[in-house]
Amino acid sequence: MTSPDPDKTPSPDAGRRRFLQQSFAGTAAAAAGLTIASTSHAHAREVAEAAEPEVTNDVDVLVVGGGTAGHVAAIQAGRAGAKTMIIERNSQLGGTTTTGGVAFPGLFDAWGKQVIAGIGWELVRESVEMDQGTLPNFAKVPQRHWQNQVFTNQFLYAILAEEKCAEAGVEIAYYEFPQAVKKTDGGWEVDCVGFGTRRKVRCKQLIDCTGGAEVVGMAGFPRLREDERQPGSYLFMLGEEHEPGRNQIHRLYVHGADSTNSRTATEANLTGRKSILAKVRKEGKRLMHLQPETGFRESYRIEGETVVTVNDYTSGRVFEDAISYAFYPVDLHTRSGVKPKPLKPGTVPTIPLRALVPKGSRDLLVAGRCVSSDRLANSGLRVQASCMGMGQAAGVTAALAAKSGSTPREVPLAEIHALLKEHGQIVPGKA
Ligand SMILES: Cc1cc2nc3c(=O)[nH]c(=O)nc-3n(C[C@H](O)[C@H](O)[C@H](O)COP(=O)(O)OP(=O)(O)OC[C@H]3O[C@@H](n4cnc5c(N)ncnc54)[C@H](O)[C@@H]3O)c2cc1C
Repeated sequence: MTSPDPDKTPSPDAGRRRFLQQSFAGTAAAAAGLTIASTSHAHAREVAEAAEPEVTNDVDVLVVGGGTAGHVAAIQAGRAGAKTMIIERNSQLGGTTTTGGVAFPGLFDAWGKQVIAGIGWELVRESVEMDQGTLPNFAKVPQRHWQNQVFTNQFLYAILAEEKCAEAGVEIAYYEFPQAVKKTDGGWEVDCVGFGTRRKVRCKQLIDCTGGAEVVGMAGFPRLREDERQPGSYLFMLGEEHEPGRNQIHRLYVHGADSTNSRTATEANLTGRKSILAKVRKEGKRLMHLQPETGFRESYRIEGETVVTVNDYTSGRVFEDAISYAFYPVDLHTRSGVKPKPLKPGTVPTIPLRALVPKGSRDLLVAGRCVSSDRLANSGLRVQASCMGMGQAAGVTAALAAKSGSTPREVPLAEIHALLKEHGQIVPGKA
């Protein structure tokens, strides 16, 4: 059953007020010589200064979350000439593809031809070629859908993504995340924190690529999630070497895995690693590889200007505002595993721009697994090539909106399609 966002997100201003109040309380205590009577004036000054950001950025496009969709969105916006910044709470780009260890992106092809290309494909292809790996032959329709997924070296992929961000002029801020977002006349003000860093980013367009639409929730727009979600998985290698870009990593389900907040994500990691330790003890084999965190299949989805239904997905509906193709079976994992439901021959689903726009929002887009869709449609839409396609479309749309001073839904679709094609993407509809 789908329920509205149970995470009672405080209003954007409430978070900021609390931050200021806490800082002020600290300053007042210091001034009164109460809790930190013996500390120096320097300490008191530091506490007072904690109320103000140390770093301020003015950008056209801010991408929050540098995962599968996010780094593609940022590279695209940068290549389109927008001043772009990316905020990522982890230590590298790629998200579930790299940090989660699911370096097996799919599907870029359908029924004998490529349907998703662009920046995501460029990165996958270059990683494989540099790694002397093997690319699938898209002219051949595989017996099983996963046979055309691409074994990719997760380490190379993450570094190449950084190089492409640098070439596109994208500024990267790791170890940071938004603490409050505020709508302004010209876009958004986003207060971020990291260790030793407080940053205010003023941007014209904001793209939420956090996987679970965290910024959308923070901004007060509706999100949906199921009472029971698909299990997460923890990836590792037991008893054999992990050869990046050559083999699938071992994985075990983490039932109940929940990426909602740091407490639930901690719980998922503890559960996953505990199960792996039990397996090591039971099988007496060497632990050869361990990813740093759980991969989450499902959490929040946005309620967008339109919702892609499983019927839209399985019938291959070509939306009037389609910006990207998607291709994968309906793929819902449960406690008893997964039985993928392949699409009928010739069917290629599309993703409408409106599914990337939180309902009632301006200057805000999402890309990735939080796309506005019902649960079954989402189980197919969430895969990496589709997330990359959405990321590129969001990057193009945000860059065009920032340039023309409009909001994503006001950007003419023909301009979005033209710029996507210029940057190597395949666009649904008549060629
Ligand atoms: C176990 C597993 C197996 C899968 N198998 C496949 C497969 O074989 N092939 C396939 O194509 N797909 C597969 N998928 C699906 C696919 O990998 C994911 O759905 C997809 O990668 C999600 O992309 P995303 O960009 O939405 O999110 P992510 O790639 O998860 O990126 C989100 C990013 O945002 C960052 N972030 C989150 N919150 C914040 C915040 N508040 N501030 C700053 N940064 C933040 C995260 O650190 C992360 O880097 C699998 C998924 C899982 C979990």
